[in-house]
Amino acid sequence: MGRIAELRTIVDHPYSYLQKIKDQSGKKIVGTVCSYAPEELIFAAGALPVRLFGSDSGIHRADLHLQSYCCSLVRGILEEALSGRLDLLDGMVFPHTCDSIQRLSDVWRLNLVKPFHADVVLPVKLSTPSARQYLTDVLNKFKTDLECGLNQEITEANLIHAVKIYNAIRTQMTRLYQLRCENPQGIKGQDFHTIIRAAMIVEREYFLESLTAIVADLEKMTSEKEPSRARRLVISGGICNHPDVYDAIEAADGVVVGDDLCTGSRYFEGVINENLPPLAAIAQRYSERAICPAKHAGLTQRGENLVRTVRDCKADGVIFMLLKFCDPHAFDYPYLKEMLDREKIPSLLLEMEEQTEAGGQLQTRLETFIQIL
Ligand code: SF4
Ligand code: SF4
Repeated sequence: MGRIAELRTIVDHPYSYLQKIKDQSGKKIVGTVCSYAPEELIFAAGALPVRLFGSDSGIHRADLHLQSYCCSLVRGILEEALSGRLDLLDGMVFPHTCDSIQRLSDVWRLNLVKPFHADVVLPVKLSTPSARQYLTDVLNKFKTDLECGLNQEITEANLIHAVKIYNAIRTQMTRLYQLRCENPQGIKGQDFHTIIRAAMIVEREYFLESLTAIVADLEKMTSEKEPSRARRLVISGGICNHPDVYDAIEAADGVVVGDDLCTGSRYFEGVINENLPPLAAIAQRYSERAICPAKHAGLTQRGENLVRTVRDCKADGVIFMLLKFCDPHAFDYPYLKEMLDREKIPSLLLEMEEQTEAGGQLQTRLETFIQIL
């Protein structure tokens, strides 16, 4: 089986993969819900951090606890937990970001008993020197909580190793992004999406090995690239859990060449400075990486970052993928669109549920947008 096919099997059946890891190695599994979860510390505690996504079995039990105007991602994660499908988790980590994630944490704490439950209360404004010190203190407390909750000491050597592994993954991911940008025909959107999802699930050392091999293969293909007439697009939003959308874009003669997603560049951006003490260095990366709308680092930082991404990727347009009832992204959309309009960058807004399938109306909207580019 090829590397990407192997990753896809894991991404399509994450719970059986995680159960196998637990059974074979006794490794603890810790769920996370957001790209601000300090995964390096979970890794350093010998556990496997796993980003959770919503339910594809419909949402029933979660509606007894969360209003239907919470986003389908959060309601879907709760559904998975209340259905018992997340019983394999040894703990959960909730960064203090959007309201929906905070409410999910409250409901989780009251209804789902796990050995470990942490709220990581990061500051809202991340760009000041005092925020960075505060962040380091928060990470220090999280480290102590993890040690107690998982009954595992986190040594300096473990932390340094974790930083090295995550840096190596982020460096390879950055190269993968560059290669896609140079030759988007070299890798299908679905495969790219599989790699990103796998980065959040698979044992990280093994993932790094697979990723390095995939990037090396792609490097060879890039040198044989052919010019393409497909329209180049950047996707912007919170999460993209819609592999079908990539196929729909490609069927409409478009290609994704960059993104501004939590399940994308925001998750990988920026390496950790290996010359600083690990916790201070992790805090520094958080304060410098591209922010999400649940955080603040200046009134127009996200818009500037999006315009820069479009320019760097030589993109023809932007597709906003907005999860219904996601307030933080909905509030940011008007000003982001305005900034794109000022730069004469066309954009399309798609409002979706986490499990929206491509086809029909979505396909027509994509085709119409791509044709005018
Ligand atoms: S948009 Fe922000 S709060 Fe929401 S998942 Fe992404 S990083 Fe977390
Ligand atoms: S940022 Fe939006 S999509 Fe992400 S968890 Fe919060 S409300 Fe849901």
